[in-house]
Amino acid sequence: MPDTTIPQSWEARAEAASFFGFTDLPSIHARGTVVLTHGTGPYVHDTNGKTYLDANSGLWNMVAGFDHPGLIEAAQAQYARFPGYHAFFGRMSDQTVQLSEKLVEVSPFERGKVFYTNSGSEANDTMVKMLWFLWAAEGQPERRKILTRKNGYHGVTAVSASMTGKPYNSVFGLPLPGFVHLSCPHYWREGRPNETEAEFTARMAQELEDTIAREGADTIAGFFAEPVMGAGGVIPPSEGYFQAIVPILRRHGIPIISDEVICGFGRTGNTWGCETYDFMPDAVISSKNLTAGFFPMGAVILGPELSDRMQNAAEAIEEFPHGFTASGHPVGCAIALKAIDVVMNEGLMENVRTLTPRFEAGMAELAKHPHIGEWRGKGLMGALEAVHDKDTRTPFAADLSISERIANTCTDHGLICRPLGQSIVLCPPFIMTDAHMDEMFEKLEGALTQVFKEVG
Ligand SMILES: *Cc1c(COP(=O)(O)O)cnc(C)c1O
Repeated sequence: MPDTTIPQSWEARAEAASFFGFTDLPSIHARGTVVLTHGTGPYVHDTNGKTYLDANSGLWNMVAGFDHPGLIEAAQAQYARFPGYHAFFGRMSDQTVQLSEKLVEVSPFERGKVFYTNSGSEANDTMVKMLWFLWAAEGQPERRKILTRKNGYHGVTAVSASMTGKPYNSVFGLPLPGFVHLSCPHYWREGRPNETEAEFTARMAQELEDTIAREGADTIAGFFAEPVMGAGGVIPPSEGYFQAIVPILRRHGIPIISDEVICGFGRTGNTWGCETYDFMPDAVISSKNLTAGFFPMGAVILGPELSDRMQNAAEAIEEFPHGFTASGHPVGCAIALKAIDVVMNEGLMENVRTLTPRFEAGMAELAKHPHIGEWRGKGLMGALEAVHDKDTRTPFAADLSISERIANTCTDHGLICRPLGQSIVLCPPFIMTDAHMDEMFEKLEGALTQVFKEVG
C-alpha cells in the first residue's frame, strides 16, 4: 500500500520540504504551489505541462528569456575550462579580470573598480561596509548613518533590509539604528491636494535638507536610491527629483549610490537608470540583469573618487577585510560578459526601446478602467494600481487581497505577473515580441475584468 502520509504531487512536495520566502502561505495551502521544469523564450512550463508567459522575467532578471543559447554555451564552456575560483589573496580568474574591465567600460564612470558579491543584498551590504570603512579610515568614524527612501528595496540581509523602506521588516526588529528613511517621491500617492508636481519635488528636497540638518551631515555615511523603485511598486521619481536632491547631497559631502539592481543593463531603455534620470552617482550597485539571471552575482562598481578613497583606506591598514568565497566566480563572470554583450550588442536594449511605446500604450489603455487609479513606469517596467474609487484614490479593502486575486487569475490563464501592495507589476523580458505583448495585455485585461466583476 502506498504511504499516503508522503505527498505524491510535485505541488505538495514543494510545500512539504521547502520553506517559501515572500509567499502568502495560507493562500498557497488553498491554491497549491507551482513547480516549473523549464523555459522557452519568455515562457515557463510546469510539471503538469501548463505554459505561462512570465511577464516578470522571473524576478526582474531573466531579461534574455529562459533558454538563451549563447548564455548556456558561455556557461558550459567556462565550466569545462575553470569551474570555480575565488578572488582573495591577490588571485582571481581571467574571466573576473575581463568582467571588471567591461563593467568599468560600460559604467557611468571614466574609471573605477569593481567588487563582487553573490547577490544584490550582499552588494548593498558591501557598499555600506565600504562607506563605514573609508569614513573611519579618513578620521570620521561617526559618519555611519545611511539615508534611503520609504518603499525603496535594497535587499534582505540585516543591513540591506534596514535600508529597505518597507514595514514588513519590523517583524525582525529592523531597521537597525542609524538607517534613516526619507519620503517616497511618488507624486500621485504622496502629493498633497493642490500641490503641483514641482512643489512636491521641492518638498522632497526640503525634507532631505531638513533631515541632514537634524541628523548632522557629519554623521551620514551615504545615500542610496533606485532610479526607479522596483520592488516597492515600480515608482518612478517625481519630475526633477534627482536634479533637486543631488546638489544637496553633494554640498554635504554625502556619497550617492545608485542601486541599479533592476534598472541596470537596459530595463529603463538605457544602460543605467541614472542615465535615464540624468544624474551622476559615486557608485553603482548591480545584480539581477548582470548575468541575465543565469548565475547568482552582484557587483559594487565604484567611481573614480570612491575607488581612490577605498584604495587608500585599505592600503593604510593593509587590506579590506571583506569578501565572499564565490566572489568573482569565473562561471558567473563568463556568463555576465556574455549577458552584457547580448543585451548591449545583440539588440536586446534596442528592443526595450522599440517595445516601450507599445508597452506604454497597453498600460494606458488598461488604466482607463474605473478601478485602475494610475499606471506608472519607465521603459519595460510598469505597475497598474487598483483603486476602489478612482476619484478619491481610495484603495480596496485589504481583506479583498485585490492584487493577489488579479495575479492568481492571471496565473490560471497562463500569465505570470506580480501583486505588490494593491498594484500589479509587469517587467517583461527584453526578448518580447509584439505578439508576446498582445498576449500579455489580453490575458491581463481578461483577469482584471473578471476580478473587478467578482468584487463588484
Ligand atoms: C532585488 C534587489 C536587491 C536585492 O538583490 P538580491 O539578489 O535579491 O539579494 C537589491 N536592490 C534592488 C533594487 C533589488 O531590486
